[in-house]
Amino acid sequence: STRIVLASRPIGMPQQENFRTETVELEPPKPGEALLQTLYLSLDPYMRGRMSDAPSYAAPVEVDGTMCGATVSRVLESTDPALSPGDIVLGYGGWQTHSVESVRALRKLDPNAAPLTTALGVLGMPGMTAYTGLLTIGRPQPGETVVVAAATGPVGATVGQLAKIKGARAVGIAGGPQKVALLRERFGFDAAIDHRAPDFAEQLAAATPDGIDVYFENVGGAVFDAVLPRLNQFARIPVCGLIANYNDTDLPPGPDRLPLFMSNILRKSMTVRGFIVSDFWDQAGEFYPAAAQWIAEGKLVYLEDVVDGLDHTVEAFQGLLTGKNLGKLVIKVAD
Ligand code: NDP
Repeated sequence: STRIVLASRPIGMPQQENFRTETVELEPPKPGEALLQTLYLSLDPYMRGRMSDAPSYAAPVEVDGTMCGATVSRVLESTDPALSPGDIVLGYGGWQTHSVESVRALRKLDPNAAPLTTALGVLGMPGMTAYTGLLTIGRPQPGETVVVAAATGPVGATVGQLAKIKGARAVGIAGGPQKVALLRERFGFDAAIDHRAPDFAEQLAAATPDGIDVYFENVGGAVFDAVLPRLNQFARIPVCGLIANYNDTDLPPGPDRLPLFMSNILRKSMTVRGFIVSDFWDQAGEFYPAAAQWIAEGKLVYLEDVVDGLDHTVEAFQGLLTGKNLGKLVIKVAD
Protein backbone atom coordinates (compact mmCIF):
# COMPACT_ATOMS: atom_id res chain seq x y z
CA SER A 1 0.00 0.00 0.00
CA THR A 2 1.17 3.54 -0.75
CA ARG A 3 0.37 6.18 1.83
CA ILE A 4 1.05 9.85 2.51
CA VAL A 5 2.13 10.60 6.07
CA LEU A 6 2.46 13.91 7.87
CA ALA A 7 6.25 14.40 8.08
CA SER A 8 6.12 17.66 10.06
CA ARG A 9 3.50 20.19 11.17
CA PRO A 10 3.10 22.98 8.58
CA ILE A 11 3.56 26.59 9.60
CA GLY A 12 1.27 28.63 7.36
CA MET A 13 0.43 27.06 3.99
CA PRO A 14 1.20 23.30 3.98
CA GLN A 15 4.20 22.50 1.74
CA GLN A 16 5.29 19.29 -0.04
CA GLU A 17 8.08 18.81 2.53
CA ASN A 18 5.50 18.55 5.32
CA PHE A 19 4.46 15.19 3.82
CA ARG A 20 6.19 11.93 2.87
CA THR A 21 5.04 9.12 0.60
CA GLU A 22 5.75 5.60 1.87
CA THR A 23 5.12 2.08 0.64
CA VAL A 24 4.11 -0.33 3.39
CA GLU A 25 2.78 -3.84 3.81
CA LEU A 26 -0.66 -3.66 5.50
CA GLU A 27 -1.52 -6.08 8.34
CA PRO A 28 -4.18 -8.61 7.25
CA PRO A 29 -7.68 -7.74 8.55
CA LYS A 30 -8.46 -8.96 12.07
CA PRO A 31 -11.92 -10.30 13.00
CA GLY A 32 -14.47 -7.52 12.38
CA GLU A 33 -12.21 -5.77 9.87
CA ALA A 34 -12.01 -5.51 6.09
CA LEU A 35 -9.18 -4.85 3.65
CA LEU A 36 -10.16 -2.06 1.25
CA GLN A 37 -8.82 -0.52 -1.94
CA THR A 38 -9.32 3.24 -2.07
CA LEU A 39 -11.16 4.47 -5.17
CA TYR A 40 -11.80 8.10 -4.17
CA LEU A 41 -10.31 10.24 -1.40
CA SER A 42 -12.13 13.35 -0.20
CA LEU A 43 -10.05 16.49 0.45
CA ASP A 44 -11.67 18.89 2.90
CA PRO A 45 -10.63 22.16 4.56
CA TYR A 46 -10.83 20.64 8.09
CA MET A 47 -7.70 18.61 7.26
CA ARG A 48 -5.64 21.77 7.74
CA GLY A 49 -6.70 21.66 11.39
CA ARG A 50 -5.63 18.01 11.74
CA MET A 51 -2.12 18.93 10.54
CA SER A 52 -1.77 21.27 13.49
CA ASP A 53 -1.60 20.53 17.21
CA ALA A 54 -3.51 23.69 18.15
CA PRO A 55 -6.62 22.96 20.28
CA SER A 56 -9.50 21.66 18.17
CA TYR A 57 -12.66 19.59 18.39
CA ALA A 58 -10.71 16.55 17.14
CA ALA A 59 -7.23 15.18 17.85
CA PRO A 60 -4.49 16.04 15.33
CA VAL A 61 -2.88 13.50 13.01
CA GLU A 62 0.37 12.33 14.67
CA VAL A 63 3.62 13.25 13.00
CA ASP A 64 4.60 10.17 10.89
CA GLY A 65 0.93 9.13 10.89
CA THR A 66 -1.14 8.64 7.72
CA MET A 67 -3.16 11.76 6.82
CA CYS A 68 -6.84 11.18 7.57
CA GLY A 69 -9.73 11.50 5.16
CA ALA A 70 -13.06 10.07 4.06
CA THR A 71 -12.83 7.51 1.26
CA VAL A 72 -14.96 5.50 -1.11
CA SER A 73 -13.37 2.07 -1.36
CA ARG A 74 -13.79 -1.40 -2.81
CA VAL A 75 -13.81 -4.36 -0.43
CA LEU A 76 -10.96 -6.77 -1.22
CA GLU A 77 -11.31 -9.03 1.81
CA SER A 78 -13.79 -9.07 4.69
CA THR A 79 -13.88 -11.10 7.90
CA ASP A 80 -17.50 -10.03 8.48
CA PRO A 81 -20.36 -11.55 6.42
CA ALA A 82 -21.97 -8.09 6.22
CA LEU A 83 -19.50 -7.26 3.41
CA SER A 84 -18.24 -9.25 0.44
CA PRO A 85 -15.34 -8.67 -1.93
CA GLY A 86 -16.40 -6.18 -4.61
CA ASP A 87 -18.77 -4.24 -2.35
CA ILE A 88 -18.30 -0.47 -2.38
CA VAL A 89 -18.18 1.33 0.97
CA LEU A 90 -17.83 4.79 2.48
CA GLY A 91 -15.12 4.77 5.12
CA TYR A 92 -12.29 6.79 6.59
CA GLY A 93 -9.25 5.27 4.93
CA GLY A 94 -7.10 8.39 4.71
CA TRP A 95 -4.46 9.41 2.17
CA GLN A 96 -3.53 5.91 1.02
CA THR A 97 -4.23 3.35 -1.69
CA HIS A 98 -5.43 0.61 0.70
CA SER A 99 -6.77 0.55 4.25
CA VAL A 100 -7.86 -1.91 6.89
CA GLU A 101 -10.99 -0.66 8.66
CA SER A 102 -13.57 -1.84 11.13
CA VAL A 103 -16.60 -3.14 9.20
CA ARG A 104 -18.94 -1.48 11.71
CA ALA A 105 -17.57 1.93 10.77
CA LEU A 106 -18.23 1.43 7.03
CA ARG A 107 -21.40 2.32 5.14
CA LYS A 108 -22.20 0.17 2.11
CA LEU A 109 -22.99 2.27 -0.97
CA ASP A 110 -25.31 1.36 -3.81
CA PRO A 111 -23.32 2.21 -6.99
CA ASN A 112 -26.58 2.34 -8.97
CA ALA A 113 -28.27 4.87 -6.68
CA ALA A 114 -25.89 7.80 -7.25
CA PRO A 115 -22.37 8.45 -8.59
CA LEU A 116 -19.93 7.17 -5.95
CA THR A 117 -18.21 10.53 -5.49
CA THR A 118 -21.45 12.13 -4.26
CA ALA A 119 -21.05 10.18 -1.00
CA LEU A 120 -18.11 12.51 -0.27
CA GLY A 121 -19.90 15.70 -1.33
CA VAL A 122 -23.49 16.67 -1.86
CA LEU A 123 -24.82 13.38 -0.42
CA GLY A 124 -22.14 13.19 2.25
CA MET A 125 -20.54 15.22 5.01
CA PRO A 126 -20.43 18.60 3.20
CA GLY A 127 -24.06 18.34 2.03
CA MET A 128 -25.17 17.43 5.51
CA THR A 129 -23.17 20.36 6.92
CA ALA A 130 -25.11 22.75 4.67
CA TYR A 131 -28.45 21.13 5.47
CA THR A 132 -28.08 21.03 9.24
CA GLY A 133 -26.33 24.38 9.71
CA LEU A 134 -28.69 26.29 7.44
CA LEU A 135 -31.98 24.70 8.48
CA THR A 136 -31.34 24.24 12.21
CA ILE A 137 -29.40 27.44 12.97
CA GLY A 138 -30.01 29.73 9.96
CA ARG A 139 -33.73 28.90 9.62
CA PRO A 140 -34.30 30.97 6.43
CA GLN A 141 -37.85 32.25 5.97
CA PRO A 142 -39.57 33.02 2.64
CA GLY A 143 -38.44 36.39 1.31
CA GLU A 144 -35.40 36.64 3.60
CA THR A 145 -31.86 37.17 2.27
CA VAL A 146 -29.24 34.43 2.79
CA VAL A 147 -25.57 35.12 2.06
CA VAL A 148 -22.85 32.47 1.77
CA ALA A 149 -19.20 32.51 0.62
CA ALA A 150 -17.07 29.68 -0.80
CA ALA A 151 -20.34 29.38 -2.68
CA THR A 152 -19.21 27.08 -5.50
CA GLY A 153 -17.89 24.55 -2.95
CA PRO A 154 -19.99 21.62 -1.76
CA VAL A 155 -21.12 23.35 1.43
CA GLY A 156 -21.79 26.81 -0.03
CA ALA A 157 -23.48 25.63 -3.24
CA THR A 158 -25.84 23.46 -1.21
CA VAL A 159 -26.57 26.28 1.24
CA GLY A 160 -27.58 28.60 -1.61
CA GLN A 161 -29.87 26.06 -3.24
CA LEU A 162 -31.50 25.07 0.06
CA ALA A 163 -32.13 28.75 0.75
CA LYS A 164 -33.97 28.94 -2.59
CA ILE A 165 -35.93 25.76 -1.82
CA LYS A 166 -37.06 27.47 1.42
CA GLY A 167 -38.20 30.54 -0.54
CA ALA A 168 -35.37 32.85 0.47
CA ARG A 169 -33.17 35.04 -1.72
CA ALA A 170 -29.68 33.58 -2.14
CA VAL A 171 -26.57 35.73 -2.57
CA GLY A 172 -23.35 33.85 -3.32
CA ILE A 173 -19.76 35.01 -2.90
CA ALA A 174 -16.84 33.36 -4.70
CA GLY A 175 -13.36 34.09 -6.00
CA GLY A 176 -12.99 35.05 -9.67
CA PRO A 177 -15.30 35.61 -12.66
CA GLN A 178 -15.57 31.91 -13.63
CA LYS A 179 -16.93 30.96 -10.21
CA VAL A 180 -19.22 34.00 -10.09
CA ALA A 181 -20.74 33.02 -13.46
CA LEU A 182 -21.27 29.46 -12.16
CA LEU A 183 -23.14 30.77 -9.14
CA ARG A 184 -25.75 32.42 -11.33
CA GLU A 185 -25.90 30.02 -14.25
CA ARG A 186 -25.46 26.62 -12.65
CA PHE A 187 -26.53 27.03 -9.05
CA GLY A 188 -29.29 29.64 -9.51
CA PHE A 189 -28.14 32.23 -6.98
CA ASP A 190 -30.13 35.47 -7.24
CA ALA A 191 -26.93 37.51 -7.06
CA ALA A 192 -23.25 36.58 -7.20
CA ILE A 193 -20.20 38.59 -6.18
CA ASP A 194 -16.42 38.22 -6.42
CA HIS A 195 -14.75 38.71 -3.03
CA ARG A 196 -11.52 39.67 -4.79
CA ALA A 197 -13.15 42.65 -6.58
CA PRO A 198 -11.77 45.97 -5.28
CA ASP A 199 -15.32 47.27 -4.71
CA PHE A 200 -16.52 44.02 -3.08
CA ALA A 201 -18.18 45.75 -0.09
CA GLU A 202 -20.13 48.11 -2.41
CA GLN A 203 -21.20 45.19 -4.60
CA LEU A 204 -22.38 43.28 -1.54
CA ALA A 205 -24.40 46.28 -0.38
CA ALA A 206 -26.01 46.58 -3.84
CA ALA A 207 -26.81 42.84 -3.86
CA THR A 208 -28.47 42.99 -0.43
CA PRO A 209 -30.86 45.98 -0.65
CA ASP A 210 -32.95 44.58 2.24
CA GLY A 211 -29.95 43.66 4.37
CA ILE A 212 -28.89 40.13 5.36
CA ASP A 213 -31.04 37.84 7.51
CA VAL A 214 -28.86 34.73 7.42
CA TYR A 215 -25.11 34.78 6.92
CA PHE A 216 -23.79 31.23 6.64
CA GLU A 217 -20.18 31.76 7.72
CA ASN A 218 -17.74 29.64 5.70
CA VAL A 219 -14.75 31.95 5.40
CA GLY A 220 -14.36 34.84 7.90
CA GLY A 221 -11.73 37.45 7.00
CA ALA A 222 -12.51 40.34 4.67
CA VAL A 223 -15.85 38.80 3.63
CA PHE A 224 -17.13 38.94 7.19
CA ASP A 225 -16.00 42.57 7.54
CA ALA A 226 -18.19 43.47 4.53
CA VAL A 227 -21.13 41.40 5.78
CA LEU A 228 -21.26 42.77 9.34
CA PRO A 229 -22.79 46.20 8.57
CA ARG A 230 -25.40 44.58 6.30
CA LEU A 231 -26.82 42.25 8.96
CA ASN A 232 -30.46 42.82 9.95
CA GLN A 233 -32.12 42.74 13.31
CA PHE A 234 -32.55 39.11 14.46
CA ALA A 235 -29.97 37.91 11.91
CA ARG A 236 -28.72 34.35 12.34
CA ILE A 237 -25.10 33.36 11.70
CA PRO A 238 -24.33 29.63 11.61
CA VAL A 239 -20.53 29.61 12.03
CA CYS A 240 -19.43 26.69 9.87
CA GLY A 241 -15.87 27.50 8.79
CA LEU A 242 -13.23 30.25 8.78
CA ILE A 243 -11.04 29.17 5.90
CA ALA A 244 -9.54 32.66 5.43
CA ASN A 245 -7.73 32.09 8.76
CA TYR A 246 -6.71 28.42 8.57
CA ASN A 247 -3.08 29.16 7.63
CA ASP A 248 -2.71 32.10 10.02
CA THR A 249 0.11 31.87 12.52
CA ASP A 250 -0.96 34.98 14.43
CA LEU A 251 -3.99 37.21 14.96
CA PRO A 252 -4.49 39.50 11.93
CA PRO A 253 -3.08 43.04 12.33
CA GLY A 254 -5.28 46.09 12.55
CA PRO A 255 -7.69 47.54 15.07
CA ASP A 256 -9.41 45.17 17.51
CA ARG A 257 -12.87 44.71 15.98
CA LEU A 258 -14.29 42.50 18.71
CA PRO A 259 -16.17 45.41 20.38
CA LEU A 260 -17.75 46.29 17.02
CA PHE A 261 -18.83 42.69 16.50
CA MET A 262 -20.19 42.33 20.03
CA SER A 263 -22.13 45.60 19.85
CA ASN A 264 -23.69 44.43 16.57
CA ILE A 265 -24.74 41.18 18.22
CA LEU A 266 -26.26 43.13 21.09
CA ARG A 267 -27.97 45.95 19.17
CA LYS A 268 -29.37 43.69 16.46
CA SER A 269 -30.33 40.79 18.76
CA MET A 270 -28.34 38.48 16.52
CA THR A 271 -27.73 34.76 16.99
CA VAL A 272 -24.19 33.55 16.33
CA ARG A 273 -23.81 29.82 16.75
CA GLY A 274 -20.90 27.59 15.83
CA PHE A 275 -21.45 23.96 14.92
CA ILE A 276 -19.65 20.83 13.82
CA VAL A 277 -21.65 18.60 11.48
CA SER A 278 -21.27 15.72 13.94
CA ASP A 279 -23.42 17.73 16.42
CA PHE A 280 -26.29 16.86 14.08
CA TRP A 281 -25.64 13.23 13.11
CA ASP A 282 -29.15 12.48 14.38
CA GLN A 283 -30.48 14.33 11.29
CA ALA A 284 -28.71 11.98 8.85
CA GLY A 285 -31.85 9.86 8.46
CA GLU A 286 -33.86 12.84 7.20
CA PHE A 287 -31.02 14.45 5.23
CA TYR A 288 -30.16 11.62 2.79
CA PRO A 289 -33.65 10.98 1.36
CA ALA A 290 -34.44 14.70 1.23
CA ALA A 291 -31.23 15.53 -0.64
CA ALA A 292 -31.61 12.58 -3.01
CA GLN A 293 -35.16 13.74 -3.78
CA TRP A 294 -34.06 17.34 -4.48
CA ILE A 295 -31.32 16.05 -6.78
CA ALA A 296 -33.85 13.87 -8.65
CA GLU A 297 -36.17 16.89 -9.02
CA GLY A 298 -33.33 19.04 -10.35
CA LYS A 299 -33.60 21.46 -7.42
CA LEU A 300 -30.17 20.56 -6.08
CA VAL A 301 -27.27 20.39 -8.53
CA TYR A 302 -23.65 19.75 -7.66
CA LEU A 303 -20.20 20.23 -9.08
CA GLU A 304 -17.17 18.03 -8.47
CA ASP A 305 -13.48 18.60 -9.14
CA VAL A 306 -11.91 15.15 -9.53
CA VAL A 307 -8.09 15.10 -9.61
CA ASP A 308 -6.43 11.93 -10.89
CA GLY A 309 -3.76 10.22 -8.79
CA LEU A 310 -2.80 10.08 -5.10
CA ASP A 311 0.54 11.72 -6.00
CA HIS A 312 -1.34 14.98 -6.68
CA THR A 313 -2.94 15.10 -3.24
CA VAL A 314 -0.72 17.71 -1.54
CA GLU A 315 -0.87 20.08 -4.51
CA ALA A 316 -4.65 19.67 -4.73
CA PHE A 317 -5.00 20.34 -1.01
CA GLN A 318 -2.98 23.56 -1.34
CA GLY A 319 -5.37 24.53 -4.13
CA LEU A 320 -8.36 23.99 -1.84
CA LEU A 321 -6.99 26.58 0.58
CA THR A 322 -6.37 29.09 -2.21
CA GLY A 323 -9.57 28.58 -4.20
CA LYS A 324 -8.14 26.63 -7.17
CA ASN A 325 -10.77 23.89 -6.81
CA LEU A 326 -13.96 24.18 -8.83
CA GLY A 327 -16.52 22.26 -6.79
CA LYS A 328 -16.12 19.38 -4.36
CA LEU A 329 -12.46 18.31 -4.43
CA VAL A 330 -11.93 14.55 -4.74
CA ILE A 331 -8.79 12.55 -5.56
CA LYS A 332 -9.35 9.58 -7.85
CA VAL A 333 -6.99 6.95 -6.43
CA ALA A 334 -7.97 3.88 -8.48
CA ASP A 335 -10.55 2.70 -11.05
P1 NDP B 1 -14.75 24.46 -0.71
O1 NDP B 1 -14.76 23.44 -1.77
O2 NDP B 1 -15.71 25.58 -0.76
O3 NDP B 1 -13.25 25.01 -0.68
C1 NDP B 1 -12.83 26.06 0.06
C2 NDP B 1 -13.06 27.40 -0.68
O4 NDP B 1 -12.84 28.45 0.25
C3 NDP B 1 -12.06 27.70 -1.77
O5 NDP B 1 -12.38 27.06 -2.98
C4 NDP B 1 -12.18 29.22 -1.88
O6 NDP B 1 -13.23 29.54 -2.78
C5 NDP B 1 -12.65 29.63 -0.48
N1 NDP B 1 -11.65 30.48 0.19
C6 NDP B 1 -10.38 30.15 0.51
N2 NDP B 1 -9.77 31.19 1.11
C7 NDP B 1 -10.68 32.20 1.16
C8 NDP B 1 -10.65 33.54 1.65
N3 NDP B 1 -9.55 34.05 2.22
N4 NDP B 1 -11.77 34.29 1.54
C9 NDP B 1 -12.89 33.79 0.98
N5 NDP B 1 -12.96 32.53 0.48
C10 NDP B 1 -11.88 31.75 0.57
O7 NDP B 1 -14.86 23.78 0.74
P2 NDP B 1 -16.10 23.13 1.51
O8 NDP B 1 -17.39 23.44 0.86
O9 NDP B 1 -15.75 21.72 1.77
O10 NDP B 1 -16.02 23.89 2.92
C11 NDP B 1 -16.49 25.22 3.07
C12 NDP B 1 -16.31 25.66 4.53
O11 NDP B 1 -17.09 24.83 5.38
C13 NDP B 1 -14.87 25.57 5.05
O12 NDP B 1 -14.61 26.67 5.88
C14 NDP B 1 -14.90 24.30 5.88
O13 NDP B 1 -13.92 24.30 6.88
C15 NDP B 1 -16.30 24.36 6.45
N6 NDP B 1 -16.84 23.06 6.89
C16 NDP B 1 -17.28 22.97 8.18
C17 NDP B 1 -17.86 21.82 8.66
C18 NDP B 1 -18.38 21.79 10.06
O14 NDP B 1 -18.73 20.70 10.54
N7 NDP B 1 -18.47 22.90 10.75
C19 NDP B 1 -17.94 20.62 7.82
C20 NDP B 1 -17.51 20.82 6.44
C21 NDP B 1 -16.96 22.00 6.01
P3 NDP B 1 -13.24 30.90 -3.64
O15 NDP B 1 -12.34 30.62 -4.82
O16 NDP B 1 -14.66 31.07 -3.98
O17 NDP B 1 -12.68 31.99 -2.78
